[in-house]
Amino acid sequence: MTKEELKSKVCQAIADRRSDIMQLRNAIYQEPELGFKETKTAAKVAALFRSLGIAHETGLAVTGVKGRLKGRQSKQTVAVLGEMDAVICAGHPDADPLTGAAHCCGHDAQIAAMAAVAMGLIDSGAMEQLAGDVVFFAVPAEEYVEITYRDKLRKAGSIKYLGGKAELIRLGAFDDIDMALQIHLATKPEGDSFVRLGSTSNGFIGKLVHYQGRAAHAAMAPEEGINALNAAMLGIMGVHAQRETFREQDYVRFHPIITQGGDLVNVVPDDVRMESYVRAANVSALLTSNTKINRALQAGADAVGAEVKIQDLPGYLPLCNNSALNAVFRENAALLYGAEQVNVGPHEAGSTDTGDLSHIMPTIHPWIGCVHGALHSADYCVADVEAGYIKTAQAMALTVIDLLYGEGETAQDIIAADKPLLTKAEYLKFLDSFSSDA
Ligand SMILES: [Zn+2]
Repeated sequence: MTKEELKSKVCQAIADRRSDIMQLRNAIYQEPELGFKETKTAAKVAALFRSLGIAHETGLAVTGVKGRLKGRQSKQTVAVLGEMDAVICAGHPDADPLTGAAHCCGHDAQIAAMAAVAMGLIDSGAMEQLAGDVVFFAVPAEEYVEITYRDKLRKAGSIKYLGGKAELIRLGAFDDIDMALQIHLATKPEGDSFVRLGSTSNGFIGKLVHYQGRAAHAAMAPEEGINALNAAMLGIMGVHAQRETFREQDYVRFHPIITQGGDLVNVVPDDVRMESYVRAANVSALLTSNTKINRALQAGADAVGAEVKIQDLPGYLPLCNNSALNAVFRENAALLYGAEQVNVGPHEAGSTDTGDLSHIMPTIHPWIGCVHGALHSADYCVADVEAGYIKTAQAMALTVIDLLYGEGETAQDIIAADKPLLTKAEYLKFLDSFSSDA
């Protein structure tokens, strides 16, 4: 079979599986779970792998599920990743009524597309034609949320890093993978769906802040107390006074939430806690802005005589796409979405742990613009099902074929030309350098 024949067969196989793909998507979408808690989602992925006869491991970094299809030979391994976790968006019509979790970041589409690639490669008999293996990896905890909860997991020893891919890299789950494909859905204000390639994104440092004051009667003896909420407020204001020093090209972001702001209205708040990230487009801006922000947070405590404990945690690295791998994906996406709909994306101030992976192996992270409403918000909904779930899978499957067809020369060339920004050992050492334990 020629490569072109194989590619059209795989596309058709994925199209023929449309109802299975949407059924899986609906099952994932209807039971959204937060990171490191994706037990039902993981069970659905494992059940799918069993039904497709894909050998797999479960429980990687708490909930990860990793399946592998063998090629005619096993020269290189390409991974198709799908993130399993949801975000909290209690106002979303499809949010879980108990937890408030909802798939407002489209990770349900990632799992569906990953599954669709597997179905397409199996149904078409493509693996016989490929010189390498394909890993289908359902990964946990891309959203870096519930920092306090995850820090407890960390202290209990169930994880070391608070994001899924960092944890999987540490555990060696990417050691037998040579390159990775990861998509995300994006908002499309109007017009046709689109594909954005090559967008970079911010990295960040995670942060837990604990202001300790002294309780007292809020009206009869406030002079006896030390108001930790005022300390926190001044700390945040202090960061605002730093903002003019943040350079535009560094895309610095600090967006704290107060997770505990006091217990009773008639008691001076003595225990106030915040979670935040410090984000920036590059590591040096990350480090300098983090120093300024910590200094301002400390100043808030000093102003009212409170104590503050600032705990920095390893976050994510900025994203850098592999351009040769992007070029392969681009050609296939152009066939499916139309060449004029495939563009180079700008820098995104958000962050993803795919950034971490992109530092150690060739990785791409295309954005598929097919959503109405904003990501992580109550009006999020997939406006173009075909673009989000089917074409995405076809574009990834065709890319896998380009990479591994024949003797897998394309994959070999990309690996040979790639100069990873960090080795795994350097990467882990880098993460550990951010850790200030409390
Ligand atoms: Zn996401």
